[in-house]
Amino acid sequence: MLRLWPPAFRASHSTDAPPALPRAVLPALHRRHLLRLAGSVASTRLVASAARPLLADGSPSSAVAADSVPSDYVGYALVPRFFPETGHNVDGEFLAYVRHNGGAGEFGYPVTEEFWEPSGASAAGRMVQYFQRARLECDLVTKRVTRSPLGELLVRPQPAVSPAPEARFFTETGHNVMNAFLRHFETAGGVEVLGYPISEEVEENEHVVQWFEYVRLEWWPEHPPAHRVQLGLLGDEHLRRTAQQVPAAAVRRAAPLEPVREWILPPPQPPPARPQPPLLVPILYYHHVPSQQPLRTQIRAFKRAGRTIVPLGRVVDAVRGEATLPPDPLVLTFDDAWESQFQNAAPVLQAEDVPATFFVITRYLSALAGYMTWDQARMLKERGHEVESHSHNHPRLDTLYAADEGAAVAEIWESLAVLESRLGRSRRLFAYPDGRWDDAVVSIVARIYRGAVATGGGALQTQDLMYALRRIKAEPSYAAASLLKQMV
Ligand SMILES: [Zn+2]
Repeated sequence: MLRLWPPAFRASHSTDAPPALPRAVLPALHRRHLLRLAGSVASTRLVASAARPLLADGSPSSAVAADSVPSDYVGYALVPRFFPETGHNVDGEFLAYVRHNGGAGEFGYPVTEEFWEPSGASAAGRMVQYFQRARLECDLVTKRVTRSPLGELLVRPQPAVSPAPEARFFTETGHNVMNAFLRHFETAGGVEVLGYPISEEVEENEHVVQWFEYVRLEWWPEHPPAHRVQLGLLGDEHLRRTAQQVPAAAVRRAAPLEPVREWILPPPQPPPARPQPPLLVPILYYHHVPSQQPLRTQIRAFKRAGRTIVPLGRVVDAVRGEATLPPDPLVLTFDDAWESQFQNAAPVLQAEDVPATFFVITRYLSALAGYMTWDQARMLKERGHEVESHSHNHPRLDTLYAADEGAAVAEIWESLAVLESRLGRSRRLFAYPDGRWDDAVVSIVARIYRGAVATGGGALQTQDLMYALRRIKAEPSYAAASLLKQMV
């Protein structure tokens, strides 16, 4: 198991034994500590003090302020998040869950702090937090956040009925969903988000509503068309009903907890889809491109030799068993984001209609003379090339990791966060600066990237080398014949 909390970082959990759980609201520090312990990603969510710059040049990427992020987001968030609207904090796994499942738009604002309650399922109990439209539970043993079935808890399910015409019928509960409610159900995530219907459409408080396991859909015809289906405030209603069981300290307006900057990471990359025999795919890597003609000559020679130039992302997919490649594939990569690549390689690639992969040093773009600007990198991407990470400052990662793990983690993750905040989603490919890597470095890269390239020659790519794909050194001045000879 990797130790991921070097001095520059405060780990999101400690290795101390958890404290005994009092049967009341836990003091703020304990609560945060416990929730982090409960987190399924505790070992990979690093917390850096908000006051402390992450990198030597003090340029951490900005933390997200939005309360909702895509499930594959890589970057920072300020945690906990305080909602002045209701005066409550959301932290730890609850915040991660809310961010990845629709934010305040889906759940409403928090109406309590998180609090501990006993649970029949486990001796450790669970943490609970109410939102206007939901109640979230975090089981301290299974470490999972789930949504309480407030629909079921608030109403007795109606008896099953027969399928109705023009409706989607759910045999599981014997109820129909139709019209605008069905459209909302299908676009909002279906059974996973709303649960099964537990009633037909009924009239309550002068609104047509329908109950599901987790939500109540309401029809508000007086609203603009996009807002006519509303989610009922089931969290508020359940909290009112069970108020005497909720610690008063959790319901009172709270002071904002001190925010810190914390990594948000997507779920780890899955292993390859299926075993795949080794693939012979030469991957060339270039640096400077002083002029256009030599590269043009090379690319034409590669084509004449029957080579089909493909993007690296497709090769990574193929090695993973998720894509196929044409016969005799070839990949062109360009390292370090030299401006000469934009000036001389990009026009040739466009004229020859071949894709390439550019590995950029994110802090150098628009900052150092001789390197591309962010606008140039964006143009490469718009022309169909891959623009991927080559670290933030181009350090030797094996030695950096040994000296300062946190700095190495930041180099590897920060550069992707910066790259994607500037250019949008990448293919999540990485090139090791100077081709230097070791197992510790690979484990950090593999946490968020789909594949990585090394140097050292050779063209045989295997699943074992998903994070150290082989590359062949190339310069535009090399004879095409000698490069072709290395490809077999
Ligand atoms: Zn480099």
